[in-house]
Amino acid sequence: MPCKSCGSVNQKKFSAEMGIHFPELKDIDKPVVWVFPEIVVCLDCGTAEFAVPQAELRELAKGDATEAR
Ligand SMILES: [Zn+2]
Repeated sequence: MPCKSCGSVNQKKFSAEMGIHFPELKDIDKPVVWVFPEIVVCLDCGTAEFAVPQAELRELAKGDATEAR
């Protein structure tokens, strides 16, 4: 599948670890949600794509719900 940004097929899969913060929260005690996705990086323009796994996705959704309170 070509890159959505530049159309290049020069893409490579990597495994990554990523700590997702809730930018709207100034509270630094708010835990980071760690995800370990497989990412696809476009080697021409640098666009990276990945899907957050279901379990971590729920964590992110929960964080939003807490913030909306
Ligand atoms: Zn690209």
